[in-house]
Amino acid sequence: MADRSVGDLLRVTPGSAVRLVDVDTRSTPGTDGDKVTAAAQVDALGPQLALLQEQLYAEGRTGGRRRVLVVLQGMDTSGKGGAVKRVAGLVNPAGLRIHGFGPPTPEELAHDFLWRFEQVLPPPGAIGFFDRSYYEDVLIVRVHDLVPQAEWETRYDRINAWEAKLAEQGVVLLKVALHLSPEEQRARLLARLDDPAKHWKINPSDIDERGHWPAYQLAYQLLLERCSTDVAPWHLVPADRKWYRDWALAHLLLETLQGMKLSWPTPELDFEGMRAALHA
Ligand code: AMP
Ligand code: MG
Repeated sequence: MADRSVGDLLRVTPGSAVRLVDVDTRSTPGTDGDKVTAAAQVDALGPQLALLQEQLYAEGRTGGRRRVLVVLQGMDTSGKGGAVKRVAGLVNPAGLRIHGFGPPTPEELAHDFLWRFEQVLPPPGAIGFFDRSYYEDVLIVRVHDLVPQAEWETRYDRINAWEAKLAEQGVVLLKVALHLSPEEQRARLLARLDDPAKHWKINPSDIDERGHWPAYQLAYQLLLERCSTDVAPWHLVPADRKWYRDWALAHLLLETLQGMKLSWPTPELDFEGMRAALHA
């Protein structure tokens, strides 16, 4: 375990320059590099995560407004879904709201780009996971100029303003970018082709998108630089090793919940009266 928090190790300092080529996708900061130990540590976090989640849920049921929103971004096959499965799987599913986002529908396109995300924010007491997010609106949209540059250029500031508003409304944001190498993506896409149980995930355009790798890396760099803020910082997780990705997300979620200083609600109830009535 790290002396520094995992959040400190992986946070993108607001206002700092980011050079993705300098971040080793195979590195495993905060661990001793051992997969078996890391997996055991994730399992050991389960009860702690489950307890804090239940306290958050209880707070939401007794008038609290706070909730957690985990925003996951990463190239295809970077393991966003796998990380959600592993980490969300440690807590009570009743307290979760998990959403994935693909291309917007015609109805969604008729609204502002943030609209469809506003519709599915976690309610008070819940932990939401966004598997892709409004950051696609400065990723694929930027890389392919799906809207004019004059429009997508404004989105960084609008996202920051929106996230600041969410924070005021009690949404605690945990933003995690999974950093994958093109070689590891190739291996994972090849493995998909060889595995009938994974054929349903294949989208031929994923292979074409590899041709835009440098443009995506630049787009990622820019959103990490422009949208890592004090209220909603980004975390950059090396993701070539699946066990590390899971370890990092589990710790980041735990630290996020710990930072909320949760406790059991203390409703003012007539305990003595109720005890007496039950005994009567
Ligand atoms: P997957 O996560 O593999 O199910 O793929 C979802 C696809 O939806 C990815 O190729 C995303 O780039 C794409 N997508 C998500 N948001 C948008 C958006 N705003 N505009 C266009 N494509 C999007
Ligand atoms: Mg895909």
